[in-house]
Order: sequence, then structure tokens, then C-alpha cells
Amino acid sequence: MHEMSLAESVLKIVDAAAASQGFERVTEIRLEIGALSGVEIDAMRFCMDAVLRHSLAEGAGVVFEIVPGQGWCMQCGDNVEIGALYDPCPRCGSYQVQPTGGTEMRVKNLLVE
Ligand SMILES: [Zn+2]
Repeated sequence: MHEMSLAESVLKIVDAAAASQGFERVTEIRLEIGALSGVEIDAMRFCMDAVLRHSLAEGAGVVFEIVPGQGWCMQCGDNVEIGALYDPCPRCGSYQVQPTGGTEMRVKNLLVE
């Protein structure tokens, strides 16, 4: 499952931050998820619960912030907002839209003790 390896990489980031910043507990993890990243929020939530068990972030709240998808429409020659990968341009209906933003997932913020 794609989300499981993502969740594991989030835990690695948390562990690395704990090692460099010297905190011992994480109470909240804030993740930014692009609307075009292909990440399923429900699956991601489930996988985060699984990987955080017995970690320094066990029981931490996981907050998801959805970043809207952005694309470059070749017909309009302009940036447009798109809701999902392979969606047509909302202005002209063209499918020649190149995703330019909202395609990634990243750890935005950690609340620690
Ligand atoms: Zn367009």
C-alpha cells in the first residue's frame, strides 16, 4: 500500500527531528496533502495510526491539511485550479492540463513536548 510507505517516511522525519531537536514526545503531526498527490486520507489515517504505535508519537493527533491542486492549462495559457489529477480545465474544458501544484505530501508541523 502506497500510504503505508508514506506513513513510514513521516515517522522517519519525526524520529530525525526528535534526534536533532531533542524532544521526546510528539502530540500532534500536521501533514499537508496535495489534492493531486493521490494520497487517500482515510487510508493515510489508518496507516499513521499503525506506524505511530510504539513510537514517540504514539497517540499523537494527526491533522490533514489539503492543498488545492494547481495546473497549467495549455489552451488557456494560464494557471487553473483543479480538483483531481486528470480533471479537465475548469475554464475551457481542455484535458491538456499539466499539474504544477498540490501534487505532494509533506510534514508541515509537529507539536512536541
Ligand atoms: Zn483551459
